[in-house]
Amino acid sequence: MRGPGDILRVAATRFGDKSALVTATRTLTFSELDELSQRFAAGLAGRGVRPGQPVSLYAQNRWEWIVAYHGALRAGAVVNPVNVMLTAEELAFVLQDCGAAAVCTSAEQAGRVVELTRHLPALHTVVSFGGPVEGALAFDELLASTGPAPEITPVPEEPCTIGYTSGTTGHPKGAVQSHRAVLLNCALTATMHGRTEHDIVVTALPAPHVYGNVAINGTFLAGGTVVLMERFAPADALRLIGEHGATLFEGVPAMYSMLLAAPELDTADLCSLTRCTVGGQTIPTSTIERWQERSGAPLIELWGMTEISGLGTTHALHAPPLPGSIGVSLPGVEIRIADLDDVRRDAPHGEPGELMVRGPIVMLGYHNNPEATARTIEPDGWLHTGDIATMDETGHVFVVDRRKDMIITGGYNVYPAEIERVVAAHPAVALVAVGPVPDDVKGELACAYVVLAQGASVTEEELIAYTAPRLAAYKRPRLVRFVDALPTTSTGKLMRRELIKQFTP
Ligand code: ATP
Ligand code: MG
Repeated sequence: MRGPGDILRVAATRFGDKSALVTATRTLTFSELDELSQRFAAGLAGRGVRPGQPVSLYAQNRWEWIVAYHGALRAGAVVNPVNVMLTAEELAFVLQDCGAAAVCTSAEQAGRVVELTRHLPALHTVVSFGGPVEGALAFDELLASTGPAPEITPVPEEPCTIGYTSGTTGHPKGAVQSHRAVLLNCALTATMHGRTEHDIVVTALPAPHVYGNVAINGTFLAGGTVVLMERFAPADALRLIGEHGATLFEGVPAMYSMLLAAPELDTADLCSLTRCTVGGQTIPTSTIERWQERSGAPLIELWGMTEISGLGTTHALHAPPLPGSIGVSLPGVEIRIADLDDVRRDAPHGEPGELMVRGPIVMLGYHNNPEATARTIEPDGWLHTGDIATMDETGHVFVVDRRKDMIITGGYNVYPAEIERVVAAHPAVALVAVGPVPDDVKGELACAYVVLAQGASVTEEELIAYTAPRLAAYKRPRLVRFVDALPTTSTGKLMRRELIKQFTP
């Protein structure tokens, strides 16, 4: 196997009649998925999509999405998986930036995409999943193409996908991921979490995101079944786990909080679960503990990013638990914690520094952005993750915060996430985010933006006093502002920059 486009072909020979994918509308075996993606590849080639051209996928988690992903790869296209929650403006930016030749989208979205083709000269084909849409080619029509399927052998070190980052800290950037990087990440993730053909994985992770991608394709690689939810709803997830006898559930922290708060949890049957995974954002250890207690299965933390084509660290199945740690590096992947002032030096064990990653999973670079690439990948191959972390003597990593969010107050580095954890524990606080406000004397001060719990009340002085025994003096928030809501990305990540823009006069 040279790339993820080979996964279904190989799986079909080993697990042919076994269920590969279950969605609300259709169940497909490995052979059926393989056959459909082969036909999709032929259809795309018939429509003039040439090897190396970008094909964007912009749709919910549907079975057609999976066919289009594998089909486009088999046609030799560079796949651009797009977050379906993006606004029209953000979508236009991504399609323009990557130079998409074709877009595969659902009927609900197709009109909007057809509209965009007028401004995007490179875009010549819009494929619509579901009903017919003017100006778009129906998915079934594309599949009906009779031309021969292209015979493409992927070159492992060449571009496979262009994944755009979540845009949590600015404009999304297109990370060009190689065939080797994506396939290897699926394989390593599958190994670390012990995936087998007996696995039944329930997930609502978005297929375009790297975490969703390794969950789905890592499972296919092992011959397991993916029960893919179009969108997350706690009651549906709990029902699907019971109905299918799921062995593995995978999701972001917010999903676990919602599962734990769902009234259906009391009667849900979770006894088939053998482990679950969580990542994408820091998860409170209390959430981990509560989920493990209720499900009876370990909740394995993982850390990843678009620029490394998936995960970089996680815990091996059956490793001793270490809540709060994102685990150790994947086999064959190097990680280190770099001194914040001198990237060539390692930070001492336990001291915060920037998490750096090197190895075959690292992106080739940012699409059309050599300056950003040069800032992010050192000449010796180390990738700046932008995350501040510590590492203990056993190689376990703990994320502290993002480097961009660090506040420098009176010469001290303060990490908003650390303050947020303390303030969040106050019973009157529903949500909290910490950001800098300019100060003539100290340069910056930490300000806590707080959404109060329903019916609760607390004063600024009381909250600051609450942090006093829990945080060193220089880390305590100096200001508290009460707000109605906090700005988040479409995937629910807190956008601290936006917060500062919104609330700083
Ligand atoms: P952008 O780079 O555009 O600002 P983003 O970094 O949020 O967006 P992604 O590549 O989707 O885009 O997310 C990767 C980031 O998510 C990591 O760099 C890290 O900050 C955060 N992250 C992922 N997993 C974890 C985790 N387990 N704990 C804490 N943070 C995590
Ligand atoms: Mg990032």
